[in-house]
Amino acid sequence: NKQILFKGYIEGVPKESDMELKLGNEIKLEAPKGSGAFLVKNLYLSCDPYMRGRMRDFHGSYLPPFVPGSVVEGFGVSKVIDSDNPNFKPGDIVSCFTGWEEYTLFRNTEQLRKVQPDDIPLSYHIGLLGMPGFTAYVGFYEVCAPKRDEQVFVSAASGAVGQLVGQLAKLHGCYVVGSAGSNQKVDLLKNKLGFDEAFNYKQEPDLDAALKKYFPEGIDIYFENVGGAMLDAVLVNMRVHGRIAVCGMVSQAGIGASDQQGIRNLFSLVPKRVKMHGFLQSDYLHLFPRFVEQVGSLYKEGKIAYLEDMNHGLESAPAAFAALFTGKNIGKQVVCVART
Ligand code: NDP
Repeated sequence: NKQILFKGYIEGVPKESDMELKLGNEIKLEAPKGSGAFLVKNLYLSCDPYMRGRMRDFHGSYLPPFVPGSVVEGFGVSKVIDSDNPNFKPGDIVSCFTGWEEYTLFRNTEQLRKVQPDDIPLSYHIGLLGMPGFTAYVGFYEVCAPKRDEQVFVSAASGAVGQLVGQLAKLHGCYVVGSAGSNQKVDLLKNKLGFDEAFNYKQEPDLDAALKKYFPEGIDIYFENVGGAMLDAVLVNMRVHGRIAVCGMVSQAGIGASDQQGIRNLFSLVPKRVKMHGFLQSDYLHLFPRFVEQVGSLYKEGKIAYLEDMNHGLESAPAAFAALFTGKNIGKQVVCVART
């Protein structure tokens, strides 16, 4: 059973060398009799920015830190290959919280959903129809409270979450602009994902001027994925009664508390009466079935597209994860461990 181990707590931006491949032991490919457990073969693993938070020795967050020397964990899509649990049979596909390894034995079924194979790619159950897609869905509809014709700005717009936010906003009748870190991503936002406009924030260092160009009348909704200088520039470009959904701040990942970029323009919230609302997708899980139904239908009807960046082989997972913090990924970063 090949595994990816977490080496030890880190500072700064994650690197490929923060994890290592362990060629592993021979294991019996069966679930122990009488255990109620079932054994899965991991097919697709998800690389997500929140995992950086588990690479530091800090216990106050919503997930505990990884244990040095133990298997990395994350969302995955897996196939049951042996089962001592009457609810799961060999061949079932599950979307679950699993180990970065070839095979995982499950003793409980928390955070686990059966996936009905249909014409949606299996890997989408950790992307478009998984946690990132759900984050976009609840962040946009529940937190941003959007109205038709509103002006929407999304940062990290080509990523796993941002690309769906922008497309939902377009379907809602909004004007949508995204920022991303390369011209290729900007091109995809405009020409494949249907954003009205997009810009490369690395080539427009005067972010305030860029936002004024794309939003001459200001921003009603900002879907915040990056923080730092972008947030500061957005704050002075918000409209009265605007909303900022604070989903994440990937630009500040790995920066110690004393070195975090200070935000200068927070006072703009007051005269503009802007609501700034941090949220976690996990507070809205009661909406998950409705999300899968609605977003799955939109995809099948061809009304939304989804960009995925697929690495192949378990050994490629550490580099795939590190790529999130340099912007190398184009779309949802996934690792294919096995196809079936
Ligand atoms: P992405 O697929 O968007 O990957 C991360 C992207 O962030 C990179 O591709 C890169 O794109 C951008 N990025 C990396 N470093 C920087 C930087 N220094 N400055 C600006 N952009 C940077 O990730 P997700 O879509 O999965 O996640 C987006 C955000 O949503 C993250 O902040 C994440 O933590 C958050 N999140 C929050 C959840 C919640 O419940 N609140 C749940 C899930 C995710 P580029 O080339 O454009 O720079």
